Amino acid sequence: MPGYEHVTASGHPVLSDFRSDTVTRATPAMREAMASAEVGDDVYGEDPTVNALQDRVAELTGMEAALWMTTATEANFVAIMAHCGRGDEYITGDVYHVYVDEAGGASALGGVVPFPLPTDQRGSLHIDQVLAAIKEDDVHHPITRLLSLENTVHGEVQPVDHLTGVAAAAQNAGLAVHLDGARLFNAGVAAGVPIAGFLDQVDSVQLCMSKGLGAPQGAVLAGSHEMIRTAHRLRKMVGGGVRQVGHLAAAAMHALDNHIERLVDDHAHAQLLAAGLKDAGFDPSQATNMVFVPVNDTLQQPLLDHLARQGMAVGDFQPDLRLVCHLDVDGSDVDLLVRAFASFEG
Ligand SMILES: *Cc1c(COP(=O)(O)O)cnc(C)c1O
Repeated sequence: MPGYEHVTASGHPVLSDFRSDTVTRATPAMREAMASAEVGDDVYGEDPTVNALQDRVAELTGMEAALWMTTATEANFVAIMAHCGRGDEYITGDVYHVYVDEAGGASALGGVVPFPLPTDQRGSLHIDQVLAAIKEDDVHHPITRLLSLENTVHGEVQPVDHLTGVAAAAQNAGLAVHLDGARLFNAGVAAGVPIAGFLDQVDSVQLCMSKGLGAPQGAVLAGSHEMIRTAHRLRKMVGGGVRQVGHLAAAAMHALDNHIERLVDDHAHAQLLAAGLKDAGFDPSQATNMVFVPVNDTLQQPLLDHLARQGMAVGDFQPDLRLVCHLDVDGSDVDLLVRAFASFEG
């Protein structure tokens, strides 16, 4: 983007940033929507733009109500706290964001015990695994209250039938089900299903506005009226009551209007990238907007340095490199990155 330059850890200017779909900067049209947003004090419930966004997300998800959150991390934390009390347990996947990447918030701040289950190649949990993990009613055990799922998982779509099956089994066993849908729109676009199609057996879902959708910040949590009322108090407790938040909600609304269908472009770029890397002798795997490239230990750093010298920023996900396609990379960035890989002599 003109007028903006940043550098890699090794001090090289970044031409193309493939580290994450969070690195996007608001488009001119999004900035215009933010600047002209009608706003009010949302702690008084008086911000028309955030109210409209919440209504929109409730409708999109088929849930009764929705609530703005500062981040997807805050949304997941508040959701777990809304479903569980201190000493209760939630089941999740061992690679899921809520367990690995949220600083243990639910246990550190909420006293909720995580029970992470091993996920398969595709990032999935299976019904028998989940059912076997639910604790019996015995004074020795924490009370299992919640199953927290994720879609996509590292780019992998959890198909509707699979997700619904696992969620229904958990609900039938008396658990609540939360879905971390930070990238649920990628799953929807890839599967050709509206996002509500994934949510039939889900009690709450959070959608991140600052991943593929390209807004600068925020997430929206959706669930029943009762759950969202509880979530509202919890959000206040953690300092997430924001005043004229409509400026950010306007960016999210603009993203919902303009940046969902275009996720197919990111997926197509990721496919192109994987094909190019394959031709260059690498062994990439690709799912939705993500490409993972296994690189042996000794070559990892030299390859990263080589890519940085070409102005290519990529994610270091030992033992893989992670390449993520998004709004701010196009076909020419993909070409540059493939050429940078191809010119590596390791
Ligand atoms: C990025 C991400 C989050 C957290 O998002 P923030 O808005 O950065 O807090 C949660 N879950 C998943 C699956 C994510 O990828």
